[in-house]
This record gives sequence, C-alpha cells and structure tokens, in this order.
Amino acid sequence: MIQMIEIEPSRTLDDYAAIAHFAGPVQALRAEAAMLVPPLRERTVWMINSAAQGGGVAEMLPQMVVLLSELGLKTRWAVIGSDQPEFFALTKRLHNLIHGDGEPALSEADRRLFEAVNRKNAKALKRHLGPDDIVVVHDPQPLAMGAILRAELGVRTVWRCHIGHDERLPATHAAWRFLKPYAETYDRAIFSAPEYIPDYLAGRASIIHPALDPFSHKNRELSPHKLVGILCNAGLKIERYPVLTPPFAHQAQRLQPDGTFGPALAPEEIGLLYRPIVTQVSRWDRLKGLRPLLEGFVRLKGWMRDASRDWSPRRRRRVEIGRLVLAGPDPASIQDDPEGQGVLEGLSDIYRGLPSEIQRDVALLTLPMASRKQNALMVNALQRCSTIIVQNSIREGFGLTATEAMWKCVPVLGTRASGLRQQIRSGIDGILIQDATDPDEVARRLDDALRNLSNRDLLARSAQRRVHDQFLIFTQVCEWLRVLSSAAASPRQAPAREE
Ligand code: UDP
Repeated sequence: MIQMIEIEPSRTLDDYAAIAHFAGPVQALRAEAAMLVPPLRERTVWMINSAAQGGGVAEMLPQMVVLLSELGLKTRWAVIGSDQPEFFALTKRLHNLIHGDGEPALSEADRRLFEAVNRKNAKALKRHLGPDDIVVVHDPQPLAMGAILRAELGVRTVWRCHIGHDERLPATHAAWRFLKPYAETYDRAIFSAPEYIPDYLAGRASIIHPALDPFSHKNRELSPHKLVGILCNAGLKIERYPVLTPPFAHQAQRLQPDGTFGPALAPEEIGLLYRPIVTQVSRWDRLKGLRPLLEGFVRLKGWMRDASRDWSPRRRRRVEIGRLVLAGPDPASIQDDPEGQGVLEGLSDIYRGLPSEIQRDVALLTLPMASRKQNALMVNALQRCSTIIVQNSIREGFGLTATEAMWKCVPVLGTRASGLRQQIRSGIDGILIQDATDPDEVARRLDDALRNLSNRDLLARSAQRRVHDQFLIFTQVCEWLRVLSSAAASPRQAPAREE
C-alpha cells in the first residue's frame, strides 16, 4: 500500500557552492539551518504524496529530501497507493474542482472512499512514526491520512497544497467544503500563492514557491555532445556518427498517422537540431491546453500557405519548416492521473484528421518513465533544442515546465493561468497568451514569438535571472525549514486513546 522511496544522494551543498553564482544562496541556507535545525534533530520529517514519478511534486521532492537530510534533519519520502482506481478518479475530480473545473458534486460515498483509502495508508505508515515526527502531506490525495495520524498519534502535520485557483467558483467551493474537515486539523498549510488559500485556512497558511534543482538531470547543463547523445539514445535523432552511450532500453514513442505509437524517427526524423521547434512538455491533462495549442499551430501553418498574406520570405520559411513537439509521460505510468489516456486519445483523433503534410510537422511524443533519469534527460534535451517553449495551460497551479524553460534561457510563451502569471511578467520574462482556449490567438503569438528574435532573447535572459533569484531549490529549502520549525513549536495534541 504505502511505498517508501529511498533516494541515493548524488549532489551535496558543497557541489552547488562550487559554482560561483550558487555560493551566496548556499551560504545563506547554511546560516539559516544552523539556527533552525538543532531543535528539530530528534524528529523525522515525512514527506507524503501520491506519485513516485510524473508531475511537479514528484519532480521536486527527491532533492528536497536529500538537502534537508544533509542539513541534519531526518527526512523520508513515502508514496500512498490504492488498488481502487475509483480513488484516483475521485482525487482527479477534486484536483480539477480546485482548479475551478468540473461538476461541483461530491457525495457521501465519495467521502467514504476518500477516508477508507486514507485510513488504510495511515495504518501502514503508523508503525514507522514517532510521537514528535512531522508529517507533511502533499496535495489533496493523502489529506485525510494526515488528519487521522494527528488524531491518533499526536504528530505535527503540515499540508502542502500545490494547486489552486484565483477565482471562487461553485467548483472550488465544492472541493474546499469536501476537504475542510481534514485540512482544518493541520498545524500549518502551505500554498503556492495567497489567492489559493481557502478562507478557513487563512492565518495558518504560508506561501512557498515551487523551485527547481539546477543540478538535476532535468535541468543540468548539457554539452553539445551530450545533448546529441541523449537525442540519439532516446530514439529522437538518427545516429549518423558513433555516440558514446548505448540506446536507452525504453525510447520515446511517437504518434503515427494510423493512430498507433511507433518510433519517434517515423514517419521521418523530427529535425530537432535544425528546424524552428515549438515545444510543450506536460502531463496529458485537459487543463494544459494541448488541444488549442495543436489547433493554433495548424492554423499558423495554414496562414503560411495563404499567398495573399504579405509575409517576408524568411517569416514564411520559418513557419514552413517549423515543427511542433508535444511531449508528455507515458500515461500508463502515472497512477494518480487517470485522465491522461483519454486526453491523449482526443489529441490522436485530431492528429489523424490532419493532412499528411501537417502530420509530418507535429510530433506527439510519449516519454517512457521506466527510468526517471532517462526521462529527465529526454525532457532536458527537448527543452534545450526548442526555439520556443509553450505552456498553454488553461489552469496552472505553478507550472514547473515554464520554470525549467526559463532557467534554460529558452523563450517562453505562457498564459494568464495564475501559476504562470506568478513566474512570467508579460513582456519582461516571456509572453502571456490572453486566452489559452483560442487557437487564433495561439497562432498569432506563436508567429510573433518565432519572428521577434532580439526581443525573444532579452525576455529569455530576464527569465533566467528571475528563476535564479526566486525559484531555485536553496530558497525553497530555507522556507521549508521555517515552516517545519513553526509546526514543531505548535502545541502537541494528545493522541486519541485506542479503543
Ligand atoms: N515531466 C517529466 N516528464 C514528462 C512530462 C513532464 O518529467 O514526460 C515533468 C516536467 O518536466 C515538470 C513536471 O513534470 O517538471 C510537471 O510539473 P508542472 O508543475 O509543470 O505541472 P503538473 O504536472 O505538476 O501539473
């Protein structure tokens, strides 16, 4: 049921501090830890979520656990599970409702299912816990579990909610009402933006921005040789010359004109190193705006063919040879996102209806998750060979994929979804699409971004700076230490007596 994830530390704070521009942030982190960690030493901090891979939370947790441990805080990571797919269908509904999307109807049967699965997981974790431990629950899936453990053992609890929406709607009310009895029991709550905090948690909630690890396989620098090697190993580029490393056991798969998935080199090589490439990397989630992005790209191709448009030859050529890459995890590998397969099938239907010359220019890729490292390297390489990275989210809690592109100095086209607005100041660090559901606007913005080279580079540099200053792991770990200290200082609840 519950899965303990062991992480082999591979990067220490000294490794980061050896890089000139990380030395300052590491020093600040160490100074803060010297004050905050000693009173926490006897406790274990448990990070609990619902997926070992795929999505932003699984992305951030491993190195956070490693760095908190290096700073002297015993930290473990556990993933809840269930053999009832209905549980993840329910939690996906909750996820969508928090984003303001879906039918605002949650029943008593939903509550019973939510509690039953959480109770089973709580029972499995309970024997590992000490009374002074701190249980940190990520997102709504394990929320009831933290409430149960707090009531039964008196452990301190922190809820880290990574999602949220900046409008109050019937859908968001329904979700927050459902979660209230559990969330209210927590000692502390953490959100990614103040607008996401439900009224009943005001006063007990703090803000922590998600952040990335610049040394992870997802974000580390890649030399040209390494980049080409990864593309060849992943089956994303023809191996014309010998490369150092052998092909990955599980390679990227590409949607074929007949609707099946086959090698990414068929029907022909994508041209990642040669052509203008527009990329979106995301889970196959309706709210990621993949469909309007695909439709917008197809529209732009149509404009290029329209001889009545007064386009310069260079502009026409750029769109003519430009290609769209939509890349996401193999949906079968992500237990807590049951809608992925359906979304991919919807995109596949549109793709199959496209003329063959446009099909050639669209690469819908599934990236295997069998090896987390290889998956991360594939994403890293794809992001680095992109001319523009789009994150056309209709809703977005934060959007690490945008942060990743900004860090790599790749120009970003985001949307007005609240998570993206927190990161990208439109016209300064990137461009924001006003209406992510409007393929016409998407097409116009793509055209602008592809054309406007000098501005594009300025935006990208400012974006990288912004990530350096605000969204790197050092700041995030510092903020976590503060929240954990304050949770530990909150009065301990007497555990309920066993019946
Ligand atoms: N991601 C990945 N492999 C994939 C697709 C996505 O590792 O095939 C990563 C992506 O690079 C990012 C995370 O999953 O780090 C997605 O986080 P984000 O905050 O953008 O969205 P979420 O999935 O949490 O809604």
